[in-house]
Amino acid sequence: KLHNTILELKGNIRVFCRVRPLLPDDGGRQEASVIAYPTSTESLGRGIDVVQSGNKHPFTFDKVFDHGASQEEVFFEISQLVQSALDGYKVCIFAYGQTGSGKTYTMMGRPETPEQKGLIPRSLEQIFKTSQSLSTQGWKYKMQVSMLEIYNESIRDLLSTSRTIAIESVRADSSTSGRQYTITHDVNGNTHVSDLTIVDVCSIGQISSLLQQAAQSRSVGKTHMNEQSSRSHFVFTLRISGVNESTEQQVQGVLNLIDLAGSERLSRSGATGDRLKETQAINKSLSALSDVIFALAKKEDHVPFRNSKLTYLLQPCLGGDSKTLMFVNISPDPSSTGESLCSLRFAARVN
Ligand code: ADP
Ligand code: MG
Repeated sequence: KLHNTILELKGNIRVFCRVRPLLPDDGGRQEASVIAYPTSTESLGRGIDVVQSGNKHPFTFDKVFDHGASQEEVFFEISQLVQSALDGYKVCIFAYGQTGSGKTYTMMGRPETPEQKGLIPRSLEQIFKTSQSLSTQGWKYKMQVSMLEIYNESIRDLLSTSRTIAIESVRADSSTSGRQYTITHDVNGNTHVSDLTIVDVCSIGQISSLLQQAAQSRSVGKTHMNEQSSRSHFVFTLRISGVNESTEQQVQGVLNLIDLAGSERLSRSGATGDRLKETQAINKSLSALSDVIFALAKKEDHVPFRNSKLTYLLQPCLGGDSKTLMFVNISPDPSSTGESLCSLRFAARVN
């Protein structure tokens, strides 16, 4: 491998916590309920406390970013992990948390403002830059992008132009689309999703327009972008095949960047009917994800990949010598204290 990463130290699973700033729409002038304790630099530490009814609940993670952490600082801490996809590793980076906790801000950010760009655009920029500089050593890379959404346990292609038109009628029942998007894994550990659009990419500009296209497909059919996107998992996949023309070395890496559905609990959403079905599907797939990561972290013999579409899709990128990072996003809003505790307990289980 070209660049060694230091992630081997404690297995291949890391959990980072990020607390977003208090926003004007949050619970007024009340004090924030979550306190991130910085230990090394100003906005980066390892400990976080949640205060609920005067009781302090402490948690420790691999890293904790408080509200002051910039997108650049957060990316700095994951850039080696991203880099390892170019060295042939399979990498998954998840954002977990309740709706409004900053998952999409962390993953996508506000791409139109350079300082607020999230992990996805930053990762792609770094990968393209590095792959270009490695060409002087004889490396040639082929990059392919796919983007999909998992909603109520069915897959939707976000890059299919024909799907964009059909999506409104499809939302409630994906079987009406006539496409099944069957997931299979081949002997080389590659995942195939039948009918899924895969685009060869050779520039950042091209990926940016694909990201825009995907965002548009996600927003079709519902008025509030955040409302609908909060109920589906968004999976961005970059496949990298590299070959060195002088040494004939080959590498095949995958970078999966996943903006998970909101983790809010059933009781709070007060759901009925379709909404209830959605919430149950989300809870099921998030607990399946937790079970898989937990089993991998504990090096258990049986890893229950097949219990959800998401874990089955990502199976080759979660086991073996692949690398996984989970961001647990936290809102400091006092009205979110209960959800914050749930998210941190979820993350502490897989940490
Ligand atoms: P989620 O995707 O978890 O539902 P969002 O990423 O949409 O949450 O964040 C909710 C709101 O908080 C958005 O307006 C977003 O821009 C803002 N936000 C989230 N994290 C940060 C941050 N670290 N700094 C500034 N604003 C943030
Ligand atoms: Mg979001």
